[in-house]
Amino acid sequence: MILHHQSGRVVPPGSTVGMIGGGQLGRMMILEGRKMGYRFIVWDQVADSPAAQVADKEIVADYSDRKAASSLAKACDVVTYEFENVDPACLRLLEQEGVMPQPTHLLELTRHRVSEKKALKAAGIPVAPFRIVHQKHELATALSELGTPAVLKTATGGYDGKGQSILHTEEDVSAAWSAVGQDGEAFVLEKFIPFACELSVIIARSTSGEVRTFPLAENVHRNHVLHQTIVPARVSDEVAREAERVARLVVESLPVIGLIAVEMFLTATGEIIVNELAPRPHNSGHFTYEACVTSQFEQHLRAVCGLPLGSTRLLSPVVMVNLLGDDLHLLERQLPYLPDSVKVHIYGKHEVKAGRKMGHLCIVDESITRALAQAERIGMWEQKQVEAAPS
Ligand code: AMP
Repeated sequence: MILHHQSGRVVPPGSTVGMIGGGQLGRMMILEGRKMGYRFIVWDQVADSPAAQVADKEIVADYSDRKAASSLAKACDVVTYEFENVDPACLRLLEQEGVMPQPTHLLELTRHRVSEKKALKAAGIPVAPFRIVHQKHELATALSELGTPAVLKTATGGYDGKGQSILHTEEDVSAAWSAVGQDGEAFVLEKFIPFACELSVIIARSTSGEVRTFPLAENVHRNHVLHQTIVPARVSDEVAREAERVARLVVESLPVIGLIAVEMFLTATGEIIVNELAPRPHNSGHFTYEACVTSQFEQHLRAVCGLPLGSTRLLSPVVMVNLLGDDLHLLERQLPYLPDSVKVHIYGKHEVKAGRKMGHLCIVDESITRALAQAERIGMWEQKQVEAAPS
């Protein structure tokens, strides 16, 4: 895909970057960007967000507030986003003002599961067999066509397994529809893939057209939420090459500027199936912060600012472990006992909620076996917490 938009415009260090969204991804982008001399303004709906805590300024306004979009456009040399639930009308306004190098169309494609699946399929990229359903009776028909088990997913707003329901038998139609469905809205029913493992490739394209991929990541989920990322992924070179080929195909087929995370399933027969795309830094790329020459956060900034992309070379094997909810308090107690290979990230969120991403650990060790054993020990104190929690 040829992109003409603002190609090659260089936004040099010292310029001001606008960040839509104040979560941990924005925070880590800012921490990396500050190192390079950029200034930052964060736009979030609430004050003192994780990203605003490390920014120069913040704008607190609803994400559909056109006035906020205009004032961000005036104050910034370039604007990017750290999450997908931005109002496309605001993004288009920023694009027209010449400060948003990421095409609004990319966000529109990827924030809706139906358009995302269709775009992937049209590009010849393997996806799980799927049907689009709007009504309960269509769900029953779609399930009989696809067979069980299958997963019903909302087209928008779903993340970390929210807005999803697995159907094991045809009798699950009513329960799944009442859990997730709503007549008139669009849903995707897709075949359940009994995957051997989950993988992701994070890939960047800069405004000057340069493309680079990060090392393949192996992802372990718990309750649909990312729990661990293991790099190098424990797959053959052939699988790693195929995953990279598929990620490059995504970038060639869609109007990508900046980072895009390509989440994949590896089947027992060695096939790669793309599950989801995220046009931004991604939880499964946190390992790059410590373990690669260039982090995903710096790479995204380089890509949208038109700087040459950095080396993505892996410096060390690494295991990333997410800290959810009360894991944070457990971590605080464990801090004195953590080995020196463990790097701690805490996002500065004010409220601890069950399942909420509060921070993460990167275990950087030349032996992946040792890093995994350490992650296992961390998993054991997380497990104890689950067992001790009042039911
Ligand atoms: P998603 O919100 O689509 O990223 O899904 C979250 C997680 O649910 C994935 O990372 C998988 O672990 C699981 N999942 C989603 N779709 C499927 C599927 N079609 N087959 C098997 N597992 C799935």
